[in-house]
Amino acid sequence: MTARYLREEHHMFRAAFRKFLEKEAYPHYNDWEKRGIIPRSFWAKMGENGFLCPWVDEKYGGLNADFAYSVVINEELEKVGSSLVGIGLHNDIVTPYIASYGTEEQKQKWLPKCVTGELITAIAMTEPGAGSDLANISTTAVKDGDYYIVNGQKTFITNGIHADLIVVACKTDPQAKPPHRGISLLVVERDTPGFTRGRKLEKVGLHAQDTAELFFQDAKVPAYNLLGEEGKGFYYLMEKLQQERLVVAIAAQTAAEVMFSLTKQYVKQRTAFGKRVSEFQTVQFRLAEMATEIALGRTFVDRVIEEHMAGKQIVTEVSMAKWWITEMAKRVAAEAMQLHGGYGYMEEYEIARRYRDIPVSAIYAGTNEMMKTIIARQLDL
Ligand SMILES: Cc1cc2nc3c(=O)[nH]c(=O)nc-3n(C[C@H](O)[C@H](O)[C@H](O)COP(=O)(O)OP(=O)(O)OC[C@H]3O[C@@H](n4cnc5c(N)ncnc54)[C@H](O)[C@@H]3O)c2cc1C
Repeated sequence: MTARYLREEHHMFRAAFRKFLEKEAYPHYNDWEKRGIIPRSFWAKMGENGFLCPWVDEKYGGLNADFAYSVVINEELEKVGSSLVGIGLHNDIVTPYIASYGTEEQKQKWLPKCVTGELITAIAMTEPGAGSDLANISTTAVKDGDYYIVNGQKTFITNGIHADLIVVACKTDPQAKPPHRGISLLVVERDTPGFTRGRKLEKVGLHAQDTAELFFQDAKVPAYNLLGEEGKGFYYLMEKLQQERLVVAIAAQTAAEVMFSLTKQYVKQRTAFGKRVSEFQTVQFRLAEMATEIALGRTFVDRVIEEHMAGKQIVTEVSMAKWWITEMAKRVAAEAMQLHGGYGYMEEYEIARRYRDIPVSAIYAGTNEMMKTIIARQLDL
């Protein structure tokens, strides 16, 4: 079943992108995982071929492409491996902040380079002491003439090592009540004095993804780099988190589909007790259950994508999709590994890496507990 939002041009685009990935990504991915980073040269090739931020307006170098192209890119990147999540984050999560809230001058300065890959972006909300409780971040930005002086620390930042532009959530009014009204977004550039990066964090999965800590010690950020209005940062984040959660749901759905396909192939060729493992009814039932859950996830995420593309409010639906699909993908990962037997636990089998990569989708972009809190709020309890 093809999603209704996909037209002939999207299918052609997918075929071209897949061809590109077959040459530029699939053969190198295991090496990137071992080295712990996606090389910048890959980002540049993505840019050269029009695969970075294609939705950006033509006047800033983009293609004015609709969100269905983003869906295709995110799905195809996930099929290669989950560590490519940082590219989707740059394309569909961070750069949109600049396009939506930036001034004309900021857009002209930054957007064309986001499209070419000369600028890699990140978003820094989480701190060692505040993740889910975003309103209580403690990084401060104090206005001093033409600058903001930023002090604080961020952690778990995707693209943290490569990033040239970082949208940083900070408190411009630490006394604001309620506290979320004191949050603003500042764009911190690579060589800002007082800004340093910590180590690349060692993670359970996403080994090629450069997740890092960021430090700001009297960092001097030009006042010009404020995104939108002071004190509106929290509202901007809440708006843009909807597409971020949708992107996470799309990736998790794709991962579940890949894991199912790997498992189906495996049980069809593996033999035990004189027959193919896929001939045991218990195995067939488990695959039937997985296939059902995957089909339910696909139907739902496609509907949320359609509604998002139609400009509808998707807060509740995207929260549902994010928690349910990521939990479903975790169940699929556990079943898929089990059905691979001992081989599933070996690194040379793709399912091993997929099993390590999937749990974080239930944590980042807002934990699944936070998703349920949002849904419950809409239930008029
Ligand atoms: C690989 C990776 C990449 C990431 N990338 C980024 C990034 O690019 N930018 C960024 O800003 N952040 C990023 N994050 C951070 C991520 O968004 C946070 O880890 C997440 O929001 C949870 O925050 P926390 O880790 O502080 O957990 P906490 O908020 O401390 O939560 C701990 C546990 O308590 C639960 N909990 C907390 N509050 C409640 C409540 N009210 N009700 C019920 N349960 C609750 C949580 O659900 C969780 O299970 C990344 C994280 C990882 C692991």
